[in-house]
Amino acid sequence: MAEVGDCIFCRIVAGELPAEVVARSPHTLAFRDLDPQAPTHVLVVPTEHVADAAALGPEHAALLAELAVTAREVAEAEGVRDRGYRLVLNVGDDAGNTVPHLHLHVLGGRRLEWPPG
Ligand code: 5GP
Ligand code: ZN
Repeated sequence: MAEVGDCIFCRIVAGELPAEVVARSPHTLAFRDLDPQAPTHVLVVPTEHVADAAALGPEHAALLAELAVTAREVAEAEGVRDRGYRLVLNVGDDAGNTVPHLHLHVLGGRRLEWPPG
């Protein structure tokens, strides 16, 4: 598991790596995905390091709500709220999780296939 100091999303939160930030709240940051899979593809991350959704516990209840609110604000700002959007949390290899810092994908702006590939 990556140390926090090596974590690319912690470094984006700290302003050490560039990212196109689209929204923020006291404990979350939202920025565009480097390799977008839809017209809107934004990642919402907690500003504190949390490895993934499997590391969440009851102590993260307020943080989870804050992630969801920031995601909704992103959807509104991107103009996809009315037509719909998808929120995704990948956990582990089979889901294709590559960055070990919790991130909520906000995908929209096109018809999204279900189930995902
Ligand atoms: P995962 O597959 O772990 O759920 O999603 C990781 C996402 O982070 C991928 O969609 C990937 O394109 C994105 N990503 C990886 N490195 C960076 C980066 O340095 N900056 C940004 N903005 N996105 C990144
Ligand atoms: Zn991190």
